[in-house]
Amino acid sequence: MGTFLSKKFLDLHAYTPGEQPQDMAYTKLNTNESPFAPSPLVEEKVREEAGRLNLYCDPECRLLRQRAASLYGVAAANILPVNGSDELLYFAFMAFGDAEHPVAYPDISYGFYSVYAAVNQIPSHVIPLREDFSLDYRDYCGLHENIVIANPNAPTGILLPVWQIEEIVRSNPHNVVLIDEAYIDFGGQSCVPLIHKYDNLLVAQTFSKSRSLAGARLGFGIASSQLVGDLSTIKYSVDPYHVNRMTQAAGIAAMDTDAYYKDNCRSIMENRAYTTRRLEEMGFCVLPSSANFIFARHPRMSGEALYLRLKEKAILVRHFKTARIADFVRITIGTKEQMDILLQAVSQLLDDSDGQ
Ligand code: PMP
Repeated sequence: MGTFLSKKFLDLHAYTPGEQPQDMAYTKLNTNESPFAPSPLVEEKVREEAGRLNLYCDPECRLLRQRAASLYGVAAANILPVNGSDELLYFAFMAFGDAEHPVAYPDISYGFYSVYAAVNQIPSHVIPLREDFSLDYRDYCGLHENIVIANPNAPTGILLPVWQIEEIVRSNPHNVVLIDEAYIDFGGQSCVPLIHKYDNLLVAQTFSKSRSLAGARLGFGIASSQLVGDLSTIKYSVDPYHVNRMTQAAGIAAMDTDAYYKDNCRSIMENRAYTTRRLEEMGFCVLPSSANFIFARHPRMSGEALYLRLKEKAILVRHFKTARIADFVRITIGTKEQMDILLQAVSQLLDDSDGQ
């Protein structure tokens, strides 16, 4: 720690991103990216835009917002494009939380929520998931605190039905309920239509997963124009040009090739069912996932051992040392070929451990 760091950050535990090896030597199933390249139109539009990099981008992201508004069935004033949905989360914590306004979220969820709370000095109200990692929506009804829930949850993959989200939003009318839909395109139902009914609902979406743009950094906040206005104030106080030219062009082109992404999502869902079945046949317990990853544990091998041995075989999955989930690994669903590489390696590891 440097001697100049502000005292308020002395106890800060930063978020640890998943490994991003730069040598492509791994079957990479650790950070929930899409295994599919962006659509050809995205590549073409990014190349065109590269020739205009001498000029600042549109801070209002007007074309992108209009396009996203028609995709989501809302007005442009209901949308804030962001530099990855992490940025939306950050803006929201900054805008709506403070020492008097704690934020509630589940004990097992996206690791950034506690970090954003800490960096903004917001008290956290951490609510345990049930024993089976499902979320009891009644824990959040009438809480009168700001709330953030990933739906489907990460790293469990478990989905809440929209009516339960609605109950949470309806019963906390004086607080912001942020629903993080990073993985909603893999079989879940979005609660975006509820923004027309509730001005305290903020939905975060990302193009990092289903739309193959993790490296471009593009997400959206979707909410009442009042919430979007507050988030815009933060954006213009931090970084007006946060969504760069190439990313704006990539996002529009991605939406113009929607059918391509829908096909890819269908493949991921098929591969998820296939991988789950095969792992269960090998004795794994796999949580029911509506995301592009699965969370699995084996009674005979610890999560850490599985992670380390797969890494030796050039396969990267994610392991968290966190209490309650240290026995699990999170496996991103890739192509059928990638899943077969994983399944073969896992089967071999289990055979080897039988022989010992
Ligand atoms: N929310 C959840 C639940 C996530 O898992 C992630 C991916 N790490 C994000 C938000 C952020 O994604 P991005 O910033 O790439 O949009």
